[in-house]
Amino acid sequence: MDKPTPPPTAKGPEQTFTGDVWIDSIRDGSDESRLVVAHVRFTPGARTHWHSHPLGQTLRCTDGIGFVGTRDGRVLVLRPGETIWTPPGEEHWHGGTRDHLLAHLAMLVAPEGGGPSATWLEAVTDDAYAAAHQALSTPVRGTAGD
Ligand code: MN
Repeated sequence: MDKPTPPPTAKGPEQTFTGDVWIDSIRDGSDESRLVVAHVRFTPGARTHWHSHPLGQTLRCTDGIGFVGTRDGRVLVLRPGETIWTPPGEEHWHGGTRDHLLAHLAMLVAPEGGGPSATWLEAVTDDAYAAAHQALSTPVRGTAGD
């Protein structure tokens, strides 16, 4: 059994994030499990750049309200207790809403042989980010009143 000393909370770099994002690394993928876990806190308006993960990624919301968006224009709202899976290679972004922070656990398996766990692309434009907010008012299928 081991209780490692956690590394300091790190600021998400501006090369891969828009706005203020704070990352607490939990597992760094350097052991035989290759497990990478981080608790990531996005302040309102903050989000990742577009990116993909070679072996996919699981996102579990722990607090706040946020989005996960994909290239086909789909945007899923992420609320506490909810989990979203992005398959290997699927280009996506995640972040808070303009009015709410988002905290999520980001979980993935690092590639065998030590390659990068993410391929980073361009920033999400302000227009695309604004459009994502329509997902907040989209009725959920199957609820009363449908
Ligand atoms: Mn991701």
